[in-house]
Amino acid sequence: MPIAASKTAAAVAALCLCVACGSRAQAPPVTPLEALSADSVQLLEDLRYLSSDPLAGRATGTQGAALARAYLAEGFRSAGVEPVGGVFDWPFSWLPAGEAEAREGVNLIGGRTGSEHPERYIVVSAHYDHLGVRDGVVFNGADDNASGATALLAIARALRATTTRNSILFVAFDAEESGLRGAHAFVADPPVPLEQVAIDVNLDMVARTGGLLWAAGGAHTPALVPLLERVAATSPVELALGHDRPGAPEGDDWTRSSDHAAFFQEGIPFLYFGVEDHPDYHRPTDDFENVDPGEYLNALRTILTTLLALDETLPLETHPTP
Ligand SMILES: [Zn+2]
Repeated sequence: MPIAASKTAAAVAALCLCVACGSRAQAPPVTPLEALSADSVQLLEDLRYLSSDPLAGRATGTQGAALARAYLAEGFRSAGVEPVGGVFDWPFSWLPAGEAEAREGVNLIGGRTGSEHPERYIVVSAHYDHLGVRDGVVFNGADDNASGATALLAIARALRATTTRNSILFVAFDAEESGLRGAHAFVADPPVPLEQVAIDVNLDMVARTGGLLWAAGGAHTPALVPLLERVAATSPVELALGHDRPGAPEGDDWTRSSDHAAFFQEGIPFLYFGVEDHPDYHRPTDDFENVDPGEYLNALRTILTTLLALDETLPLETHPTP
């Protein structure tokens, strides 16, 4: 039955064409921001898991930290982020002052390659460790800093919707709460030459904005200011520039308050996103339930917009090593 067979073949071919047309019509290209918005269920699931009791506050060197790391590595993998040097895990150790035994931590580093400047890197960083368990009470650290670690995954997934001019390194730091140990280990033993790191965009406490997100770093790298002002003009959360002026009252200058300090010390520009301390800061009540999903998503929209603008703008002028 050759005729019938060929009719069937034609029908199948026509159907395929229709399906192809249909799928094109149903799935227009999405922007990274649209991808981020469409990803909110996964975003919240990631945050819920990383700040859940089984992870026991993700203290450096604990099983909870290893669980967090495994989850982040799987998240990197499924977002198409590639291990740097063949592995995501970058172990390091340090000797705390006055102690006889070295302590160990593990950074997680993955990357994606830029289309125009593969040799130039934007580091997007967030520490995944927190305070662990104290007196039998779990410090879940949902805002500090499951929110930043979760953001690494969400940003990596959103960026799959586009190419970036520059390469991006996603870095989940360990042992921030022990004195920015992971960040110092990164700059001491970098996966790529530090001269090729254009900027560190560090996220530490980015969920509990209360409507106000801070961007620090412009005082040290003035080229960031017009870019941030442009982003602020249309930001869904108020984006304030500051907390970076040397000589400001104690606690007001956040230049050395989180992992970006290690980059600053190397003369690498930084952009730090974070919120004001809140009543649950470093308390066992820094829980998932206290995060407003809308506030968190709006903060990430602003951070992603800034990252895309940075990618368009690089290179920036660097400041002299302090
Ligand atoms: Zn923190």
